[in-house]
Order: sequence, then structure tokens, then C-alpha cells
Amino acid sequence: MNKLQGIGVSEGIVIAKTYLLVEPDLTVQKQAIEDGEAEKARLQQAIAQAKEELQHIHTETLAKLGEQEAAIFSAHLLVLQDPALEMEIHQKIAAGMNVEYALVEASDMFVQLFESMDDAYMQERAADIRDVSRRILAKLLQVELPNLAAINEEVIIVADDLTPSMTVQLNKQYVRGFVTNIGGRTSHSAILARTLEIPAVVGVTGATNAIASKQTIILDGNSGEVILNPTEEQMAQYEQLQQQLIEQQQALVKYKQLPSVDQDGYAVELAGNIGKPEDVQKVLDNGGDGIGLFRTEFLYMDRADYPTEEEQFEAYKAVLQQMGDKPTVVRTLDIGGDKELPYLQLPHELNPFLGYRAIRICLDNPNLFDVQLRALLRASVYGNLKVMFPMIATIEEFREAKQRLLDVKAQLIAEGIAVADYIEIGLMIEVPSAAVIADLFAKEADFLSIGTNDLIQYTFAADRMNEKVAYLYQPYHPAILRLVKTIIDAAHANDCWVGMCGEMAGDPIAIPILLAMGLDEFSMSATSIVSRRAQLAQLSKQQLQAHIPTLLPLQRLQKSSSTYVKHCYNSASNKLDEMLTCSVFFCMSTFRLAEMLNGTYDTSCFDIAS
Ligand code: PEP
Ligand code: MG
Repeated sequence: MNKLQGIGVSEGIVIAKTYLLVEPDLTVQKQAIEDGEAEKARLQQAIAQAKEELQHIHTETLAKLGEQEAAIFSAHLLVLQDPALEMEIHQKIAAGMNVEYALVEASDMFVQLFESMDDAYMQERAADIRDVSRRILAKLLQVELPNLAAINEEVIIVADDLTPSMTVQLNKQYVRGFVTNIGGRTSHSAILARTLEIPAVVGVTGATNAIASKQTIILDGNSGEVILNPTEEQMAQYEQLQQQLIEQQQALVKYKQLPSVDQDGYAVELAGNIGKPEDVQKVLDNGGDGIGLFRTEFLYMDRADYPTEEEQFEAYKAVLQQMGDKPTVVRTLDIGGDKELPYLQLPHELNPFLGYRAIRICLDNPNLFDVQLRALLRASVYGNLKVMFPMIATIEEFREAKQRLLDVKAQLIAEGIAVADYIEIGLMIEVPSAAVIADLFAKEADFLSIGTNDLIQYTFAADRMNEKVAYLYQPYHPAILRLVKTIIDAAHANDCWVGMCGEMAGDPIAIPILLAMGLDEFSMSATSIVSRRAQLAQLSKQQLQAHIPTLLPLQRLQKSSSTYVKHCYNSASNKLDEMLTCSVFFCMSTFRLAEMLNGTYDTSCFDIAS
């Protein structure tokens, strides 16, 4: 069998050789030695090799990604040049220890020492020591560490997982796609793949064992299929599919310039999600009406230390200036869960997604929070800024965050610094407790934005990173549809606008339902905007909304409602494979679901148990 199945999370087909990104085994044993001088010489050589490698990575990163990203490697070079670690290893070798073991012991000792210091800067150095020691150890053991910066030919990366910080390092020129063992549709590496427009398949159990390095594979980011050593026939078939996708994209180009309206002229906002200022151009190129989510935590990643107020100010200003009058929703730091900051030194937790993260960290660390709020408020005069807080679970959290923002604003004004007169303040509804009392939030906020990635994970108690429970990512399940409707209705009843910035907002199956429910703003990957606008132009909110009351109670097929909609999609798209936008079909699937629930539609053709 030459096919592996995973979850297609970023569209596109790519055919290339693989780059296996796996951590080598770095375990070492304590051994008695006879020649201490020889051990010291091996250490010298390993340090020299590690230094050469780090200098190379630093130069490459600087050229490809810039100074901020390269700073982490400058810090590593400093650690490498510090004689303290080497002296400690020498002492251990003198006491009869082999160099590998001496290195591990010495580095553990320094890591613990730095971690126990009161000074946050010193604590952060522990991570650098760990990284540098790992690099020297790899040289001693003569094994290769994976190195994204060293890739200089077109590849598909195969890895256990790609952390968000690894994903931002990917060089689009060479990295044509990726396959991972774990992950789901809403894990952050998947979201970033869509932002970077790199086709990706995640949740391919055992991919790193089944796929060899430098093996030619076909990756289909739509179907989630990975084909190993493709036959000539398969190559031809996929090359044809690749061509079709390109033609489809070209046919949609005209929608970049058109307004986001349904067939009756009803207008909504189709906005883009971004992670870095560089992503703004893609939103504009795709005709986005605004930015519905700027995930600012990516400014904090891949660097040795926190971004300063000035650095953040420049980043926010650049985004706002480029967007001009178009609404730009900036979300405050949402760190934790699968988004780690090594220098923040978060304690290890059993359930990081349920733990110390996002607004909880910010409210607990006013100094950290204030730097971001000052930078944001200073940048507010350059565009149409709206500020949004993540992971709000209680009204008190929202009030405290909002008050903090207003206090910082007053402080800036007292300092004579210009701030926009009125800045809309909103929150993400992504915790079920907030969804249930959305009406209370809507009374105190200017807008709500539904974060379905987390809302679905928390409602179903299903980790969004775990492919084993990926089947519980069910955006069309009545539990989710009812929550979404509750939030939209609560917002509108309280003169609040309501958007959605989770992945569901760009899901073509969900769009007719969300449109019918009255969602005002749909924020998605920039590359989805054009095709969703084409779809919208074929829908009628007025006609669709008549079906909402039937959709919600879901008397029948409760368990398999999502599966059912998917089946509708597959059956219809097979028959209508020439259709460019599939819009009529998506509309149809919503109607069919409604009709079927009324008992007026024959489900037998879909071959599913009802
Ligand atoms: C969400 O949870 O839906 C969301 C948009 O935020 P993130 O994916 O960054 O957690
Ligand atoms: Mg979230």
C-alpha cells in the first residue's frame, strides 16, 4: 500500500522529496575513561563544530527571516563562548567521567542554577544553555540535529509535529508542504500552514516511521492523502489535479475586487487572520475587507526575549497603516496551550490548554500586559484599531482587562502621547462559560468574536492537537450551532456586532448556516477570502434563514449530523466536479439537511445510517 491517510489542513497538491525532521536519540551513559586529555580534545572539536554550525544557521536566518529571528542564535553563540560550561566539564573529566556524561551533568547544573535565579532575564538563559548543550552533544555522538534553516532544496517536511515557532521558520521557497504524525485542523501549525499557503496534512499516525528521508511523495492537502513512491499513473493524475486547482484559482480572481454581498445585496465583512505584519499584504491582495484577528503572540515567538514596546509599536503601526480605514482587530497576547515562549518559563502543566494561558497570564503580569497595551494604543492613531481579549471566561476578567486598557490610555494621554479617541474593545467567545452568558458580555463590549477552534475543543472536551479525538471537531453539531446562534442573537439584541475568527468562519459548509444566523464578520485565512466571496454571491440570507429553526433542534441524526453534511458535500461535489465555487451545492447541502430533518428528503442515496 503506497497511501497514507491524514487530515488535509491546508489546500493544494505538491510533489517533492521528503525532509525527515526527527529528533535523534541523545541519551548517554556514564562510562569510566582512561585518557582525560583525549576526552577534552573531543570536547574542543565538538564545540568548534557546534560554533561553525551556529554561525551558519545565524547567517542563514538573518538573511531569510531577519534580525529578530536570528537573535536567538546570537544568544546561543554567546553561551557557547562562555568558558564556565567548558571549565565545569573539564573538572568532571578530571574526576574520571566521559565527556558526553560530563556535558550533560554540567549543563543540568547550570540550567538549574539559572532557573532558580530571581532575575527573569537570567532564568531565560537556562533554555539557551539547554539548546547549546544539545548541539554539542549531537556533535559528540555524531548525529544530525534537524535544522530547518539549512534546507536549500524543495522539500516536503515530515515530522512528529511542527511547533508554531518551527512553522514560522519555514522558508516557503524550499518548504513546499508538510506532513505530521499528530495534530488536527485547528492546531496552530495547521493554521500557519494556511497563512503561509503551504499544503499540509496532519494526523498521519506513524508518518515519520513509514516515510523515509529523501523519498518522493505526493501530498494532497485537500483530501489528506499522502502517496509514497507514486507510480507514473499517479504522478500524471495528480499533475492534472494540480493544474485544475490553478485554473480554479484563476477563475476566481475577479472576486478580489467585488464587494462581499449575497445574491440579494446583503453585505457582510470577509476579513483575514494574520500572525505577523508581513501577512497583511496577502489579506489586501485577496481583497480582504479587514483583519478579524491579528494573533500577536507570533511577535513574541522565535526570539530570545520579549519584544520591546518600541518593537511592538512599529509592528502594530505597520499593520494599521497598511490597512488604512479597514477595521483591524488585534488580539492581545494569547500564549500557552500549544504556543510556548521558552523565555517566559511557564511551569509544566498537565493540561496546558486548561491552564495558565492567554488573558490569565496577562492579568497576572501587569508589566507584561502594559507593554503591549501601550504599544497598541500608541499605534491606534495610524488606522482603525479594535482591541480584543482572548480566553475570557468570566465577566470579571473582561472588566479587569478593559479597565487596564483604559488606565493605560489615560496614562498615555497624561504623558502627552496621542491615542485614537475611540477604540472598540471586544473579546473572543471561545470558552463555553462566556458563550452561555454572551448577552452579559454584549452589554459591556463593542463586539464579540467567536473563536470556534477553542470553543469546539472546550465544548466537546477534545484536545485540538490530538488526532485521536479529531472526529470530535464537529462545527455543525447542534451543540455548536446552538451556542453560535446564542452568541449572535445575544450580540444583536445588545447592539453589538459579532464576528467569527475560528476556522469555522472560512468553512464553506458552515458559511450558509452562519450567514443565515446573521454573523456580521467572517475572518479566515487570506487565501480563502476570494472563493468564499464567490460562494456568498450565490447564496441568499433571506432564503436560508427560514431553515435555521429546523436545523437547530436536530431531532434525528444528532450524532451524525456533521458526517451527514460532509456526505452531502462529497456526493454533490462528485457530481458537480466541474463547478468552480461549489456554492450552489453548499447552499443545497443546508437545504437538504433541513428537508431531511423535516422527513421530506430521501437519505438513502447517501448511504449512511440514519
Ligand atoms: C480560536 O480559538 O478559534 C481562535 C481563533 O484562536 P486560536 O486559534 O489562536 O486559539
Ligand atoms: Mg483560541
